[in-house]
Amino acid sequence: MDVRTASIPELYTAARAGDRRALGRLLTKVERGRAEADKISELAHLDAGNAHIVGITGSPGAGKSTLVGQLVSELVAAGKRPAVLAVDPSSPLTGGAILGDRIRIDAENGPSSSFVRSMATRGHSGGLALAVPLAVRLFDAVGYDPVIIETVGVGQVEVDVVGAADTAVVVLTPGMGDGVQANKAGLLEVADLFVVNKADRPGANDVRRDIDLMLDLSHVTGQESETGYRPPIIMASALKGDGTSDVWDAVTTHLAHLDETGQRAARRRHRVRTEIKARMAQALAQRTDILLDAPVGSELLAKAELAEIAPTWATTALLELLLSQAEETP
Ligand code: GDP
Repeated sequence: MDVRTASIPELYTAARAGDRRALGRLLTKVERGRAEADKISELAHLDAGNAHIVGITGSPGAGKSTLVGQLVSELVAAGKRPAVLAVDPSSPLTGGAILGDRIRIDAENGPSSSFVRSMATRGHSGGLALAVPLAVRLFDAVGYDPVIIETVGVGQVEVDVVGAADTAVVVLTPGMGDGVQANKAGLLEVADLFVVNKADRPGANDVRRDIDLMLDLSHVTGQESETGYRPPIIMASALKGDGTSDVWDAVTTHLAHLDETGQRAARRRHRVRTEIKARMAQALAQRTDILLDAPVGSELLAKAELAEIAPTWATTALLELLLSQAEETP
C-alpha cells in the first residue's frame, strides 16, 4: 500500500494491523485537523476505550524524557505495547534533541512494540486541545496500551491535557523550586502521583517534604478522605533507572484504585467533556467569524463600533442568530 495515496479507512485498517507508516500518516492528518481528522476520530472511537492513559508533566529539564524512555523500555520488556505522545516544548533546541532520543528508543524496540510521536505546540496551541485527545484515541484504537502523554506543565492546555488522563504524573526535581511552581501552575490539584526525579542530587528529600506539606494543606486532602487515595511521592533517578519500576507500580496501583472506586468512568466522562468543549469553542469561533463577515454581522459590528448598541447586545443578537441557524439545518 502506498500511504501517500491510501484512503483514510485503508490507512486505519493497515494501522490496526500494525503498519507503522500508516499510523504515522494518520497522525499527521490528526495534527493538521479539519475534515480528515474528524473522519479519523469517527473511525477510531469505535475501537478505542481500552488503553490506560497516563499524563506525565513537569518543568523542562526535570527528566521527563529520560523517565519516559526508561518506562517504555521496561514496559516493552514486560510485553506491553506503549505509545508515547510527546507534546513538544517550543524550544527548537531541546525539542530536536528529545525527538532524536525518542526515535532511537523507538528503533531499538522493533516494529510494533512501541510508538513514539512528537506533536509540536508551536503555531497551533489552539489546535492542540483537539489534536491531542484524537491522537490518544487513535493510539488506543490501533492497540497501544498504555498511552503516555508527555507535556511541559506550563500552559493551561497542557495542564488540561494531563488532568484529563486516567493517571496524571507530575515530575519534580530538587533545587528548582519545583514544588512551589507546580502548585502555582495548578498541577498539585491534578496530580495522581508525584515523582521526585534526580533523587541522586542533594535536596530531593526537601522536595518530598514540601509536596507532603502541600498535600496536607491543599484541598487534595478533601479528595483523599472521600476516596481513600493520597497521591504517593516516588523518589527516582531516571538516568540510572533507579525507582522507575516503582513509578510504574504506583501508576498501575492508581489505575486499580480508579477501577475499584468507579472513578475511571468519571475520568473518561471528564475527558470527553473537555474534548467536546474544546470542539465547541472552535466551532463557535469559526461561525462567529463567518457571521461577523456577513452583512448582518457587519451591521451589528458597525453599530457596536459607533456605540449605538453595547457589545453585550451585539453578542446576544449573534448568539440568537447562530441558534436559529442551527434550528434551520437539522
Ligand atoms: P525533560 O526536559 O524533562 O524531558 O528532561 P530530560 O529527560 O531531557 O533530562 C534533562 C537532563 O537531566 C538531562 O541532561 C538528563 O540526562 C538529566 N537527568 C535525567 N534524569 C536524571 C537523574 O535521575 N539524575 C540526574 N542527575 N540527571 C538526570
